[in-house]
Amino acid sequence: MEYNCTFCGKGQREVKKIFVGPSSNICNECIGMCAGLLVEDGDCNENIRLVAAFETLPDVIAVAQKSLATLRAQLKTLAGVPSAVPVTEISPGSSKTK
Ligand SMILES: [Zn+2]
Repeated sequence: MEYNCTFCGKGQREVKKIFVGPSSNICNECIGMCAGLLVEDGDCNENIRLVAAFETLPDVIAVAQKSLATLRAQLKTLAGVPSAVPVTEISPGSSKTK
C-alpha cells in the first residue's frame, strides 16, 4: 500500500518517512516545517526544537556550502592567487540511507 502525505501530497517514496493516521498522513518534511513554525512562535518544548533543527540541517549545510564557495572566491580575489588551503567538501546527502 502506497501512502501519500495529506499535507503536501508527496508519496512515501519521495520522503524519508510518512506517519499514517486513521484519516490523514503526514511526512517528515511537513513535520519539520510545522516544528519550525512552532519554534518561531516560541510555543514548543526541547523535542520540537530538536526535530526542527534536524529537518532543516540539509538546508543549513547547503547555505554553508554557498557561503564557503563565496568566501573562497573572495579569498582568491584578495590574494590574487588560488587558495592553498585544502577544503573538505560537505555533502548534504551523504548521511542519508536508502
Ligand atoms: Zn508532507
